[in-house]
Amino acid sequence: PPAAPQRLLVIEPMSSGLTLLGAARDLGLETVVFSHDAADRVVPAAARGEIDTFVVVDTNDPDALAEAAAGVHARTPLDGVVSGSEFYVDAAARLAHLLGLPGQPVETAEAVRDKTLMRAVLAKAGLRVPRYAEVAGVDDLDAAARAVGFPCVLKPAAGSGSIQVSRVEDRAGLESAYRVLADHADFVFDQPEDGRALVEQYLVGPEFSVEGYVDRGRVTIVSVTRKLLGAEPYFVELGHVVRADLAPEVREAIEEYTSAVVTCLGIALGPFHAELRLTDEGPVLIEVGARLAGDRIAELIHLATGVSLRHVMVASHVGLDPEAVWPRARPVAPYAAVHFFTAPGLTTLGRIDGVDALARHPRVTEVRMYLGPGDPVPEARDLRCRLGHVIFTADSAEHEAELRALAASAVRFS
Ligand code: ADP
Ligand code: CA
Ligand code: CA
Ligand code: CA
Ligand code: CA
Repeated sequence: PPAAPQRLLVIEPMSSGLTLLGAARDLGLETVVFSHDAADRVVPAAARGEIDTFVVVDTNDPDALAEAAAGVHARTPLDGVVSGSEFYVDAAARLAHLLGLPGQPVETAEAVRDKTLMRAVLAKAGLRVPRYAEVAGVDDLDAAARAVGFPCVLKPAAGSGSIQVSRVEDRAGLESAYRVLADHADFVFDQPEDGRALVEQYLVGPEFSVEGYVDRGRVTIVSVTRKLLGAEPYFVELGHVVRADLAPEVREAIEEYTSAVVTCLGIALGPFHAELRLTDEGPVLIEVGARLAGDRIAELIHLATGVSLRHVMVASHVGLDPEAVWPRARPVAPYAAVHFFTAPGLTTLGRIDGVDALARHPRVTEVRMYLGPGDPVPEARDLRCRLGHVIFTADSAEHEAELRALAASAVRFS
């Protein structure tokens, strides 16, 4: 008789997690989904059919999560656990450990979720990290300022989406930025804020992300991606270009450093997304996630390299060889990019013009708006100020720049 299909547990399938459901279906897996809310509120109608079992459980309560997973596993065994969300990487690792399934080591998952711990582990192994100090209250700011110096960057210890991350010039600025951070428990997905923050040396240099995966102890670098940022003191990601044009020796230095970081942190399987700045002393890590890259980067990588990191994610978490079950496809073009739309100076969105014409451009694969007429326009402090995006492919770096300029002027907000 044919073997029973393998079963994958997906925790909180919002955003990039939804794309994991499609990948699981492609690989012939059954899916069990755990979410804090009902399916019709967290999964778009089109994706609901891809779920075999849906369980509502308090995903922020480790005991509830463990009990629900053990129950499901006892009835019909699971083969793997994943989450598409940065906030549940550690929960997925703990469940995998509990059920004896392939997963990230629990210490690794904890280190990639906690920026202080991540820095400490890397520094101990002799890998370059920025000077840093953890603060838990205003009383810690003097010591942190002395240890790190100015300019510095203040950020939550376990945040995401550049929320409450800012460049700070002096002691007074540090205190006011910290007070804002400590007063605003406004992380995406409503994670509780405990006031723990990191003060870091401001790294000077262009920023890149590095995407790849680990399979049976081997680190594969798939892409070095150029990150386009908005005006400081905030760090809004305004675009990503796969791939970055780099001199071979620079690319090699970035790849080597990233492989060392991934190995040092013990990332044992599946995709990673590292962010770094290329300083005068070489690449220096900002952070690394043991998960798919967000911001549609996984899709850009698929367009420009043919590697599907979402299939790699699913395959590796159920113990399959990712390259054997989902071989690399032929790239669509050598470059793929996303550009995010913003409307600086606008407080309420009136009209949006030019979307349809841009969507008809032959190199554009997708245009999407997140906000519409009448919606308030958030301040340009973090990714929430982005109004929508366009994804396109290009034949050269110059072509990419041309298309990006075209996209930016094609859509008009008033
Ligand atoms: P998040 O987890 O919210 O994405 P990050 O630590 O990645 O927070 O910081 C967000 C952005 O802020 C980075 O992509 C980078 O542009 C900028 N940034 C963070 N830390 C530093 C630093 N030490 N030096 C320079 N820029 C930084
Ligand atoms: Ca992050
Ligand atoms: Ca980041
Ligand atoms: Ca990012
Ligand atoms: Ca494997």
